[in-house]
Amino acid sequence: MVKEKLRAKILDGSLQDYKTYLAGCYRGYHIVIEFRQPYYIVTINASSTNDANNEMLREFLAQHKGTVKKLAKAEANTHKVSLSVAAPNLQKNLPDVLNNSIAPIINYLVNGNYTSGCENCGDTMQQLHCYEINGLHHYICDTCAKEIEASLQEKQVNIKMQKSQFIPGLIGAFLGSLLGAALWILIYRLGYIAGLAGAVTAICALKGYEMFGKHLDKKGVICSVIIMVAMIFFANKIAWSWEAFDALKDYGYTFSNCFRYLGDILEASGLTGSYYGDLGIGYFLTLICSIGNIINAFKTSAGSYSMKKM
Ligand SMILES: [Zn+2]
Repeated sequence: MVKEKLRAKILDGSLQDYKTYLAGCYRGYHIVIEFRQPYYIVTINASSTNDANNEMLREFLAQHKGTVKKLAKAEANTHKVSLSVAAPNLQKNLPDVLNNSIAPIINYLVNGNYTSGCENCGDTMQQLHCYEINGLHHYICDTCAKEIEASLQEKQVNIKMQKSQFIPGLIGAFLGSLLGAALWILIYRLGYIAGLAGAVTAICALKGYEMFGKHLDKKGVICSVIIMVAMIFFANKIAWSWEAFDALKDYGYTFSNCFRYLGDILEASGLTGSYYGDLGIGYFLTLICSIGNIINAFKTSAGSYSMKKM
């Protein structure tokens, strides 16, 4: 995740670099550092029998946050400390920024005899392992790992069982994509092919389905995408009809004439190729801008989760 020269300076080089995150034990405390633009997310497992629910630790963190400029968030729950540290402008300053944020907390933990157990239950008897759960890493005990995996599986089953209300969902997707289509026409009028508006159409269609259909399931995603594709076709056709109307209104054409006979008008003026070219580029840009959202919607609708022992 960081250059070896920098890693060696972070918390005396006690953390190992696992490419996407740093993890290890520093002065007896389990620590994970991951980068989530624009923050470094730091997790320190800590609890103490002298500090119920880490209340005192929380007070210390609030005060500590005030003294470190880059520390955007410093919170504790029952068994861990969570920090968000703003990434420095220069990568070479990263060790200083992280050390200034973390080291005083570790001093406080050592002086207060805090122990570092499972992030979930605080247990210090079992050996901890690092697990990746939905993209973030956690030091937890195997008992908790089993419980967490079981609850994720149960959630997945529940999500899969949830059914959407199909017709209201379709109406929602239609209304949502209408917004995107309007934006498409507007941007086109300004002289651009509106790939971004295509992405807006996709997001609004998916959101619309979810809002009106109460749940976004697999068929909801598929129908939203089909509506989006049709909507973009119409948006492009309206935008071109509008241009034709601008050019032909002095010859007695109405907008609806232009819309109905657009094919003939394009052929007569030799613009058929440009019309489909625009549409193709529009679809392509839409695909690039919205594929991430569509894949995520599919994953969410399937209740997908990831969990693995590192
Ligand atoms: Zn545990």
